[in-house]
Amino acid sequence: MSRREFTKPTKREALHRSKGKCEAVGTWYGLPAGQRCGRDLAYGVEFDHIDLDANSKDNSLANCAAVCPACHRFKTTRHDIPLAAKTVRQQDKNHGIRTRKGPAIPGSRASGWKRKMNGEMVRR
Ligand SMILES: [Zn+2]
Repeated sequence: MSRREFTKPTKREALHRSKGKCEAVGTWYGLPAGQRCGRDLAYGVEFDHIDLDANSKDNSLANCAAVCPACHRFKTTRHDIPLAAKTVRQQDKNHGIRTRKGPAIPGSRASGWKRKMNGEMVRR
């Protein structure tokens, strides 16, 4: 799955809208709820998909936030990556794709055997 990027005009617009201050707001960026970071973007600016790109495919200005690298890193590591992995897992599940990690655990459903209360092993 490839992450599509914002176009240059979209980035320009987002930066203009930000007035040079980090647009990150709230807990997704490690800030108190409703609070804006506001750090000066002169030291570095990154463009964040507010709604995760892998889910939304939305590269519009409305989904673009001009944020400082610290905020971007926080959101990427704390939210976007786990969320993307979860999305893939859910898509796999919906498509009936399952991973078998190593041999089945004896007595588990996947083993095809069932241990009865008296210790006897029987075929399921
Ligand atoms: Zn910030």
